[in-house]
Amino acid sequence: MSAPNRASTDCTVGFDAERARLDFPILQRSDSERPLVFLDSAASSQKPNQVIDAISKCYREEYANIHRGVYELSARATAMFERVRETAQRFVAAAESREIVFVRNTTEAINLVASSYGRANVGPGDEVLITEMEHHSNIVPWQMLCDQVGATLRVAPIDDRGALMMDELEKLLCDRTKIVAVAHVSNALGSVNPVAEISRLAHSVGAVVVVDGAQAVPHQPVDVQALDCDFYAFSGHKIFGPSGVGVLYGRASILSQMAPYQGGGMMIKTVTFEKTTYEDIPHRFEAGTPDIAGVAGLGAAMDYLTEIGLESIARYEAELLDYATDALSKVPGLRMIGTAPNKVSVLSFVLEGVHPHDVGTILDQQGVAVRTGNHCAMPAMEHFNVPATVRASLALYNTRSDVDALVEALLEVREIFG
Ligand code: PLP
Repeated sequence: MSAPNRASTDCTVGFDAERARLDFPILQRSDSERPLVFLDSAASSQKPNQVIDAISKCYREEYANIHRGVYELSARATAMFERVRETAQRFVAAAESREIVFVRNTTEAINLVASSYGRANVGPGDEVLITEMEHHSNIVPWQMLCDQVGATLRVAPIDDRGALMMDELEKLLCDRTKIVAVAHVSNALGSVNPVAEISRLAHSVGAVVVVDGAQAVPHQPVDVQALDCDFYAFSGHKIFGPSGVGVLYGRASILSQMAPYQGGGMMIKTVTFEKTTYEDIPHRFEAGTPDIAGVAGLGAAMDYLTEIGLESIARYEAELLDYATDALSKVPGLRMIGTAPNKVSVLSFVLEGVHPHDVGTILDQQGVAVRTGNHCAMPAMEHFNVPATVRASLALYNTRSDVDALVEALLEVREIFG
């Protein structure tokens, strides 16, 4: 392992990050003799050998198109693909595997719901309620829907710590509200939303609940039945799996009433020029050849997290977040953006007198990879009156030594800019 971690181990909460790091080949390499300090997992996470090997095994040993061939190889690929659907069902504690739809990513999942459920169930004068902290993926599809059907987009505000104002959200709910779409965890602020409570309130006015789970699934166990949401979306690439594949969970009673999102092969029962009949769920929503090897990798990623245990990961990361929050508070002129009482993984901040992009460039020269910009959450940036922030995001393979390296590099920035 190339990273010379100063803390020899961070296994105080039943999880050994140093051991986990060994699973990630990219963390073993060094850039210009410097270990890679990777603090941008909220954008996309690194991949363990288990995932890389599963993708490679799929192409080497069991690749063929699925649901089509009568030959053995196709049957094996199909069985693998459907096994991963069951893995995903268990991963989010869904009641049935037919509630799991494979999509490209969170963005596609939300667009699918907006397009299919939205156009059939939201009309003129109706309302869609989102929050001020949403990623553009959970804003723009609803804006497009509202424009198309003559509905109104409402926005529940956040407070100055970046926590959702639940009393304001409750006030915005009414019998015109048809959809409530919220992030489980904000990618720009790290705030965790009380989804079960939001579901209870939304259901009391007859609205369905769509949860953008992109930033939650890498950090904590998710139980869609306990959350009582109607849809839950996440991306493979943020949970140490490949890009190009993601999951939409949809409650069977709702999903089975929805029209297809896209037409093509594999989503039909019969086709004539006069009329087409559609497959049952979930295949109705999976038109065309999917990312077969990507699904194999996604299955391996979910197995990887389940084997380690998301409760242990959550405890470990909570401790690391506390450590990082405290360490960053000692950097002169640093203002943390997003200090909600319930938050995970994300440390978004600005450094007085230095543009975030300059901070990011100098950190990069020190071997520290962070994200700078608006994080596809421009309204959240506007709330805090900043055009951009520096965002360090933590994952299971980060350690106190990564945080120490970040702080050292920030002190270097301070030296340069005064
Ligand atoms: N929602 C949140 C909260 C995100 O953080 C992201 C990506 O950063 C997305 C949605 C979009 O994910 P994807 O690009 O995988 O569709």
